[in-house]
Amino acid sequence: MRSPIKTLLSSALVAALAGLTACGDNTATTDATVETPVAAQDSSDVVDGEMVTVSRAGDWMSYGRDYSEQRYSPLDQITPDNINELSLAWFGDLAERGGSYETTPVVADGRIYVTSPWSKVYAFDARSGELLWKYDPKVPGEWAVRLCCGIVNRGVGVWKDMIIWGTLDGRLVAVKAATGEKVWEVQATDRDLWLSITGAPRIANGRIFIGEAGSEFHQRGYVAAYDVENGKELWRWWSVPGDPSLGFEQPELEMAARTWNGEWWKTGGGGTPWDAVVYDPVTDLVYIGTGNGAPWPAEIRSPGGGDNLFTSSIVALDASTGQYRWHYQATPQDSWDFDNTQQIVTADLMINGEQKHVLMQAPKNGVFYVIEAATGNVISADLFVPTANWMNGFDEKFRPILNPDANYGAFGDRGFHVVPSAGGAHSWHPMAFNPDTGLMYVPTNYSSFPLVAEAGAKMGNQLLSINVGKRPQEAAPQLEGAGSYLLAWDPVKKAPAWEQRQGGSRSGVMTTAGNLVFQGTADATFSAFRADTGEKVWTAPTQTGIVGGSVSYEVDGEQYIAVVAGQSGFGGSYWAPNYARLLVFKRGGNATLPEMISYTPPVLNPPENFGDAQLLAQGEQHYNEHCASCHGNNGRVSSMFPDLKYAAALNTPELFKAIVIDGALQNNGMVSFREHLSPEEADSIRAYVVSLANEAKNNPPPAFGRGAPPPPPPAPAGTAAKATTPELHN
Ligand code: CA
Repeated sequence: MRSPIKTLLSSALVAALAGLTACGDNTATTDATVETPVAAQDSSDVVDGEMVTVSRAGDWMSYGRDYSEQRYSPLDQITPDNINELSLAWFGDLAERGGSYETTPVVADGRIYVTSPWSKVYAFDARSGELLWKYDPKVPGEWAVRLCCGIVNRGVGVWKDMIIWGTLDGRLVAVKAATGEKVWEVQATDRDLWLSITGAPRIANGRIFIGEAGSEFHQRGYVAAYDVENGKELWRWWSVPGDPSLGFEQPELEMAARTWNGEWWKTGGGGTPWDAVVYDPVTDLVYIGTGNGAPWPAEIRSPGGGDNLFTSSIVALDASTGQYRWHYQATPQDSWDFDNTQQIVTADLMINGEQKHVLMQAPKNGVFYVIEAATGNVISADLFVPTANWMNGFDEKFRPILNPDANYGAFGDRGFHVVPSAGGAHSWHPMAFNPDTGLMYVPTNYSSFPLVAEAGAKMGNQLLSINVGKRPQEAAPQLEGAGSYLLAWDPVKKAPAWEQRQGGSRSGVMTTAGNLVFQGTADATFSAFRADTGEKVWTAPTQTGIVGGSVSYEVDGEQYIAVVAGQSGFGGSYWAPNYARLLVFKRGGNATLPEMISYTPPVLNPPENFGDAQLLAQGEQHYNEHCASCHGNNGRVSSMFPDLKYAAALNTPELFKAIVIDGALQNNGMVSFREHLSPEEADSIRAYVVSLANEAKNNPPPAFGRGAPPPPPPAPAGTAAKATTPELHN
């Protein structure tokens, strides 16, 4: 049903259709000639004889809206012809900072739920914007050090009258939707391991499906199903084999183990499925995307080669039992942080005159896949960015032919600039598929990333075996058309339909039956484009950047558009005011955002330089190893935490030691480094940061680290600052 004939559905008709639609039947027709779009109907699961609504046309009941994860709303009141009337209806302030708001709002039964940094949940009245409740699962602050990519959460799941989500410290929490009162809570991970949950749970037939993050900390990936009534684990599927001498939990892991060399289990192997986990009612399968191998260079992780199954793969599992059904490995022998965890979308496409039920994915490695859902047979695999240099094409079975030069782990200091970058041609930022246009809208990034392998080297706290202090010997490639943009991709023609670079950004995408595509855009705006042509038709100021996905819903017969704005580091400084908000728009809305806050950036006030060149070099090394992933270095990693050049503690050795060694700021997420640093080594870091602070003070505009570009100036009051795009790799 690629191009269903659309009916104009009023709320009343939708309600009437709900009565006509058999349980779980997505193909009701209203008469002989008019076919109702799947998304426009209610759909239900039946569990123990009880019918549970899982998708409703006027709601947005799960992370990707419904099981297909198309992020296509059937609401069509708002169109390119009237979008000039779209304006702010209400907004809700969100207090947390220190991480970006990656959440997609979830809307059900007149309430809208968003998650925030530190895995907190807010519930608002979807019509009035009244805050109904807020739940804080009290994630310990020191958990921040166990995260590769920010204090983030992507959203909640809904089941009957419960709201369910995962926490950074690996718990699942269920609360009453109306009140936020806790129903149950379980620990889904071993708390001694460095595993976290950032993804949104998907819930189907009474089972919660969710995976964990942590490849960058040498963990071993798994996805599991939990009973929605009590959180009890029903099954678990490991994505990489453990120590063979201990036996294998699943029969296919014996096969997978033959694709590894050396003692891979000592570094966990990776493969953590931290985002995409999709239930397909057509096949009764769950599709998961697995993470990169750990550590990053394949040659260090698995000396002498091997595909390293099931890293960087799509895997299909039986939804009831978790048994393996099929897999496709998108990136064998991954060395480039090519997580294959990106969004998986199911759809029915007409391909060569034949209707196919497929899944689609546009993962980090730059290839757009169309795969037959029931079998895993690849129908097509095509680059959706202009070039990629990790491979040289595909064989007849769509196995990528790897570029031998890209195996930088075998080449010492030679290194390699990988294209697309480790951050991905497309990462977790939601894409959207519109069945009316037949196009997938992908927030795309085309760039390169420098990689030099060194066994045991860390990037901040992350165990990557990448030396961030070194650069590849060859210069970075000059990429024509590099940057971030919105791409409309035709999965049948296997070609781009249009590109939109006007204000394009790495930000989630949503599409509607009103021929619209919504996306957060650069310079703190939220914009809409025509779905068929890409023409920009509307924009609204948001005062901070947007990274997550937007949604559309209907209350009292009126269509709303909702999105959370809140980008960590926006405004160029940790100290910039927090403008994180849930923003809700409708035609004729008459709310206005408050004036932006005037703020004075902190002043550099370091003590005099101290220490000789040797001490400074030592300090720089320790800084890069232990501090840089949170506090920034050389523009390589975004600063989500205070810029230490401004720290008052630089002036007091005792205070600096109390923080770094004794953990005085542990509750803020600044853990004690007693196990990693001696007090003398900590003071060498102070000497290094003091030298940077004096360098910046004497050479304004300040540059962080050596050779770094100057950071953007702080936002003057009343204007929007340009985002410092985080180079988070995930
Ligand atoms: Ca990764």
